[in-house]
Amino acid sequence: MIKGNLLYEGKAKTVFETDNPKELLIYFKDDATALNGEKHGIIEGKGVINNKLSEFFFKQLKDRGIKSHFVEKAGEREMIVKRLDMIKLEVVVRNIVAGSLVKRLGKEEGTPLTVPVVEYYYKSDELGDPMLNRYHIMALDLAKIDELNQMEHVAFSVNNILRELLKAKNVDLIDFKLEFGRFDGEVLLADEISPDNCRFWDTVTHEKLDKDRFRQDLGGVVEAYKEMLDRLTL
Ligand code: ADP
Ligand code: UDP
Repeated sequence: MIKGNLLYEGKAKTVFETDNPKELLIYFKDDATALNGEKHGIIEGKGVINNKLSEFFFKQLKDRGIKSHFVEKAGEREMIVKRLDMIKLEVVVRNIVAGSLVKRLGKEEGTPLTVPVVEYYYKSDELGDPMLNRYHIMALDLAKIDELNQMEHVAFSVNNILRELLKAKNVDLIDFKLEFGRFDGEVLLADEISPDNCRFWDTVTHEKLDKDRFRQDLGGVVEAYKEMLDRLTL
């Protein structure tokens, strides 16, 4: 595999072309942003951990029938993926109230939701990622109804699989964000699955083991990411 032209420099990852037109190389950086890009920092070693954790999760999901863009890990910070036509949505699944939901619902952080909730956000930095419903998505032609149904089905399946995997490691899955894209007529799971886009709490102490440590200036950020990697892979 040959690393080709830079295709896209994102906030947490850089995407390169490869010598295979159907594949891309994703490079995981240590950069972290929050508050719609207003807060920026470096979490030293984060890229290496997120690459490993994403590999772990995508492989576990594949074993349980969930297809993703993951092809192979190609270095400490590099992953080869299928080149997708990305759907401009962030698909969020929530089990427990946290983050933006605290204010929106007026519920205390940590309040369990009686059923998992799915939400869609328009992936648009200019608009600050507004929340959309299914009708907005269809009206904007961001995805077809069958694609939406597929994404929702996969999102809930991923929730069940990750909750089960994490429960065995004494971690609660509070919420997470997924992205999807099209490949040869199929909708595949894409991007990454890591403490950058999931909320993980220790089941007993409720200690935060995710990016909220950075967002809320709690300290011990990289230690928390490392703890997640160790619990899941050692
Ligand atoms: P952001 O765009 O929010 O700054 P990142 O820094 O994580 O996010 O950049 C990675 C970019 O790569 C994202 O825009 C994501 O949608 C895109 N991406 C992820 N997986 C794929 C894929 N398989 N094919 C094409 N683009 C992808
Ligand atoms: N999330 C994400 N990228 C975003 C916004 C949210 O990965 O641009 C994830 C976040 O890590 C959490 C879930 O989506 O696991 C729900 O986030 P929330 O809506 O509470 O947003 P926040 O207040 O964290 O910005």
